[in-house]
Amino acid sequence: MITIALSKGRIFDETLPLLKAAGIRTAEDPGTSRKLILQTNRREVRIIIVRASDVPTYVQYGAADLGVAGKDVLDEQDCGGLYQPLDLNIARCRMMVAVPNGFDYQRAVRHGARLRVATKYVQTAREHFAAKGVHVDLIKLYGSMELAPLVGLADAIVDLVSSGGTLKANNLKAVEEIAPVSARLIVNQAALKLKRGAIQPLLDAFARAVA
Ligand code: ADP
Ligand code: MG
Repeated sequence: MITIALSKGRIFDETLPLLKAAGIRTAEDPGTSRKLILQTNRREVRIIIVRASDVPTYVQYGAADLGVAGKDVLDEQDCGGLYQPLDLNIARCRMMVAVPNGFDYQRAVRHGARLRVATKYVQTAREHFAAKGVHVDLIKLYGSMELAPLVGLADAIVDLVSSGGTLKANNLKAVEEIAPVSARLIVNQAALKLKRGAIQPLLDAFARAVA
C-alpha cells in the first residue's frame, strides 16, 4: 500500500492533475466528503487528508509514504527523515513582510527600531530579521495575521501573499519579500528504499507532469 498525504483546498486541487497524470483518480472530493482516507482507482494507492502543517509529520513517521507540502511549512519545521525530490510548482505565492499603508518600514529599520511582528511563521521570521540585523519581538498567531497591525497587536506581519488582495482589503502593503513559495513533493526516506518499485514510477510520473 502507498499512502499519499495531502491537505484540503489549494494543495489538493492543484495536486489532482498531477495525480491524474500518474494514473491516479480519487472517487471522492474532500471538499464535500468528510472522509479522511480516500480510496483511488488504484487498489494499492490511498490518499489521506491532513492539515497542511501536519503533512511533514505524517510522512516523517512513515504513516504516509509521500506528501505534498508548501515550502513555507517545510522551512518552518525540522524535516529529518524526509526526501524532497521535486518542486511541484503549484500553490505558488511569496513569503512577505507587510505593514499598514501609513507605516514607514524602511525608516523604522534604518533607525534600529524594535519591531513587533505577528506571524504563523515564527522560525522563518526569526531567521529573516536576524540576517538583516533587525530586532524583533515575534508574536505567534495561527491565522488572520492581517488583523494584528490593525488593532495594535503588531507593527508588521510575516505571511504568504499571492494576489495581494487580502492585504489591500485591510489597508496593508507588502514591503519585503522573504522567499518565493511553492509546494514540494516529500517522501519518507525509508519507504523509498523499501518500496522503491512502487514509489519510483510515481515520482517519475510527477516529474514528467511538472516538466
Ligand atoms: P491552513 O489554513 O491549514 O493553515 P492554508 O490552506 O491556508 O493552510 O494553506 C495551505 C498551503 O497552501 C500553505 O502551506 C501554502 O504552501 C499554500 N498557500 C497558502 N496561502 C497561499 C496563497 N495565497 N497562494 C498560494 N498558495 C498558498
Ligand atoms: Mg487557510
